[in-house]
Amino acid sequence: MSEITATTAKARYIDTAEVAKMMRPQLRRPFPGVKFSVRISRYSGGSSIDIRWTDGPTVKQVEAVTHAFQSARFDGMIDLQYSANSWYCATHGARVAETYGHGMGDDGPVESRCCAAAELVHFGSGYIHEVRELSDGFRSVLAVQVRHESGMGKDAPMDERLPEGSLYQLYPYDTVRDGVYRLSVKTEHLPYGSTKTTP
Ligand SMILES: [Zn+2]
Repeated sequence: MSEITATTAKARYIDTAEVAKMMRPQLRRPFPGVKFSVRISRYSGGSSIDIRWTDGPTVKQVEAVTHAFQSARFDGMIDLQYSANSWYCATHGARVAETYGHGMGDDGPVESRCCAAAELVHFGSGYIHEVRELSDGFRSVLAVQVRHESGMGKDAPMDERLPEGSLYQLYPYDTVRDGVYRLSVKTEHLPYGSTKTTP
């Protein structure tokens, strides 16, 4: 029996509603207890999926799961949209099998098949958007850290400007609120209120 590769197999089309269903358990497994809202938008020429949740994992962590459930890819360098087929199995989720339509030598196989159960598919969902909301509780935990690490008073308001030299300051007019956002991007909110920041 010869090996199945992305370039020899024909991708099965999966409608976006089905993609949303497939994605739920893949999000539940690494992030138990987090409620994800998964919504589909259809428009002429395609569809997309919006994922929203509060606190929990960072956008980057969720993207690691959802990235390969998109059939559209965008190369900002040359302003070009191109396509992807993915490997999918219920155990390992989705991984990008191959890309095509790029035309700049970037077409071809990407990741190898995860296991023999994986099927080559083309997801109906062009793009997936991840939106993370922050609860007031999590926001204040982050604000405590930003103020402390910036050498500010404990009661400094959210719109107070970060002092010169604060590690959360990117622009001169940045406030505590900007610092909170910047810290949240790399901070996971774990169950029972603990947090984990990755550099
Ligand atoms: Zn697999």
